[in-house]
Amino acid sequence: MTTHNGINLKSRRELEIMEEAGRINARALLAALKVAHPGATTADLDAAAEQVLRESGAKPAFRGYPGAYPFPAVTTISVNDELVHGIPGKRILRDGDIVSIDCGSIIEGYVADSALTVGVGEISEVAQALLSATMDALFVGISQMKVGNKTGDISAAIQEFVESQQFNVVREYTGHGVGRKMHENPQVPNYGIAGRGVELRPGMTIALEPMVLAGAKETRVAQDQWTVSSADGELTAQFEHTIAITDAGPRILTLLDPELDAQDAFRYNGYFVGQAEPMEKKRSMQS
Ligand code: MG
Ligand code: MG
Repeated sequence: MTTHNGINLKSRRELEIMEEAGRINARALLAALKVAHPGATTADLDAAAEQVLRESGAKPAFRGYPGAYPFPAVTTISVNDELVHGIPGKRILRDGDIVSIDCGSIIEGYVADSALTVGVGEISEVAQALLSATMDALFVGISQMKVGNKTGDISAAIQEFVESQQFNVVREYTGHGVGRKMHENPQVPNYGIAGRGVELRPGMTIALEPMVLAGAKETRVAQDQWTVSSADGELTAQFEHTIAITDAGPRILTLLDPELDAQDAFRYNGYFVGQAEPMEKKRSMQS
């Protein structure tokens, strides 16, 4: 690892370790989404993800994360108007909910961080449009992650796309460098101005995470001091991948292994294989 302007640039070997952590993280998300059915509790989803980490020899990056008090679970689970940082527990998922699952895995001291939002049972058209727009926004952002571009190019592309879909991006929470720590430099907001910010260099690893609100952009923190919700109670969604900047283009480190997980790799609209599919196709492919 070398450091340039306060940003850790990872070696090829370090990227391989992060990709190993990333594949485990993808499997943990997959395990959680497979139990995201009406009647399941958010703790059930967390337990499914935790089992994958345990069996894979990965450490959870979220448990114990410092805040008002240490984060108590392996995943954050955020339902409907809850945007991020929800604490898994007794809440029972109902038909029509949308649930965001975010997880972090550590292998050999390197962190991978990724998240997705899934529908529970039948979801409304607005919810489906929000999910599609948020995942598409992630891939729109990834397409800007080229050597020589600036972080502002990523931010501006995400904001422009999300607002073109009549939704809003969050302001208070951002994508971030990731690697030896879960949060490293640089910050990558989901809004900004093209051409501004930090120049992208090979070896940078960034957790890009569009957080999108169906209503107004304002958020509030719940009494539990972790859960962040939309201030107006409207639906929200989040998709995230950890991506390396390379001379060959953006390399997503948090995909499923297409050989190990061949049966599941094409579940969930291309998220796990790194290519967003057309929206018409998505509507019939809900988990
Ligand atoms: Mg995350
Ligand atoms: Mg993150």
